[in-house]
Amino acid sequence: MSSKRVIFHVDMDAFYAAIEQRDNPSYRGKPVIVGAKPGKRGVVSTASYEARKFGIHSAMPINEAYSRCPNGIFVQPQMGLYEKVSQQIFDLFRKFTPQVEPISVDEAFLDMTGTEKLFGPIEKSSKMISDALKTEQNLTGSIGVAPNKFLAKIASDCNKPDGITMVPFEREKILEWMAPMGVNRIWGVGKKSAVVLQTLGIYTIGDLQRVPLDLLIRHFGKLGNSLFSLCRGIDERPVAIGDAAKSISREITFDRDSSDRQQWRQVVYELTQDIAQRARQNNIKGATIVFTWRLPDFSRHSKRTTMTQPTNLAKVIFEQALILMESVHDRSLRLIGVGISGLTNEVQTDLFSGNDGQERLEVSEITADTIRSRFGIESLKKGREIKSGDKHSLRMKCNRGTIE
Ligand SMILES: [Mg+2]
Repeated sequence: MSSKRVIFHVDMDAFYAAIEQRDNPSYRGKPVIVGAKPGKRGVVSTASYEARKFGIHSAMPINEAYSRCPNGIFVQPQMGLYEKVSQQIFDLFRKFTPQVEPISVDEAFLDMTGTEKLFGPIEKSSKMISDALKTEQNLTGSIGVAPNKFLAKIASDCNKPDGITMVPFEREKILEWMAPMGVNRIWGVGKKSAVVLQTLGIYTIGDLQRVPLDLLIRHFGKLGNSLFSLCRGIDERPVAIGDAAKSISREITFDRDSSDRQQWRQVVYELTQDIAQRARQNNIKGATIVFTWRLPDFSRHSKRTTMTQPTNLAKVIFEQALILMESVHDRSLRLIGVGISGLTNEVQTDLFSGNDGQERLEVSEITADTIRSRFGIESLKKGREIKSGDKHSLRMKCNRGTIE
């Protein structure tokens, strides 16, 4: 493996809640829960560290959070604000290296290889970034420093909040560092996968390191290869920059400015179908859904939301875009656009995929693509996904912007 690389993973601490506490001094030191309105359906997006003491965490139903901490400060997310802060933070990172790969609204990989001449050794440059977050943004982030992305991502989670964690750079030391960790720390190993591994007597990464490659391939097919590499801390993927190029979007200008929300919904639906199809054709998925609009005075505005799982499913993109659209209070629009970004063509789903709902939906949408291309778009258009009563699609998880 290329031990010459230096990769930082920076993950902001309780991002949405921390911004709320920063901007509202009366929230400081108190349990702040950013998410849906108590009494309604919906989940916690982010809980402040004070709220976590009550057992509240991201993706918990908001009503459960409320019953655990009725005196907490419940705040609805201000996505526009968080997104703005996010951009400022990524700009701050770019002062240290041009190689910045945002992976969600509050975390990014930084390729810091060769920056020693400018900023000194990694102990110093990581501290500089941590300090800059405090002085420039009054926020904290946790940083993992490692020879690759996989290890850096594990490390940033080891000393939260406001921690800097150095992974060893020598091969043997890396094996030792990882050995005691649970297998669920490995990308692609979700809860269900961990259960499958447990039935084979594999609990820790150290256990996995002792399993020969051919056995892993026998049990897990091609994925056996990546398990074999990852449990040894081997990951050659580059830090991918070029955020702008990695997005798909489409917009429609109304013939006449429209204040008909039903028409807006229909447009969002149409745009979503197109984007999802293009994403699937290119075998890519995006985690951030963007809703753009222009007012009659030509001013342009946008809102976005970032999901925990990247998607190219029309149904999911549509649902999220619609939520964003419904939060627009302007009365009359000139243009509507929808996009997805933060695209990835990596497989990051659970290896053993307990998520049949999602898979089935993917299959059905790919089938729909085929029919469309053979018989024309009109054959499949009439709002069937909007009304879909399909149990699998309803069960599908789609957490809105849950942030740790
Ligand atoms: Mg975070």
